[in-house]
Amino acid sequence: MNFLEERILKDGVVKEGNVLKVDSFLNHQMDINLFDQMGEEFKKRFAGKKINKILTIEASGIGIACIVARHFNVPVVFAKKSKSINIDGETYVAQVESFTHKCVNQVLVSKRFLSPEDNILIIDDFLANGCALRGLISIIENAGATVSGIGIAIEKGFQRGGKEIREAGYQLESLAIVEEMDAKNGTVTFR
Ligand code: 5GP
Repeated sequence: MNFLEERILKDGVVKEGNVLKVDSFLNHQMDINLFDQMGEEFKKRFAGKKINKILTIEASGIGIACIVARHFNVPVVFAKKSKSINIDGETYVAQVESFTHKCVNQVLVSKRFLSPEDNILIIDDFLANGCALRGLISIIENAGATVSGIGIAIEKGFQRGGKEIREAGYQLESLAIVEEMDAKNGTVTFR
């Protein structure tokens, strides 16, 4: 079992509706030493890949992405969520359905911060059905940039996102893949 899996067993809480709550260390209170270990691990897993920028999505991807970025020595861009349909042509846009909030957001990245020369590592906290990732991938591809890899803290392996993204040919590295979780007895099993 790796450091993140151990931490999930220690401090994660399984909620009804297939939601894993990790807000005491990952996405509300944030354990920066843990994020630092995650950065070290991603650096190993993406060794040899050309990466000059990290892309994530607000809000909970940002903290992780910033600490991971120290290991790659690259800037972080985050996609902004917006309900407005007032698009000015200066932004790349994708529609993203939120698994936890059950709503659809537009996510936006300014065209100034993505270009065809960019080789991008996507970082996010969770992968469930893959909507957030597909939105980020489409923004990168619309910019003519390259997806060099995708680093996820926690993948819920029983939802379809991971399988689809791997089948599409992307290098997807998830530090913890949850195979099963049970809200009644609070158990989590990893792949
Ligand atoms: P997806 O777009 O892959 O369906 O869901 C990914 C997004 O939903 C993540 O960025 C994360 O914010 C949120 N999410 C999905 N599943 C969970 C979960 O079990 N727990 C928490 N805390 N967030 C989740």
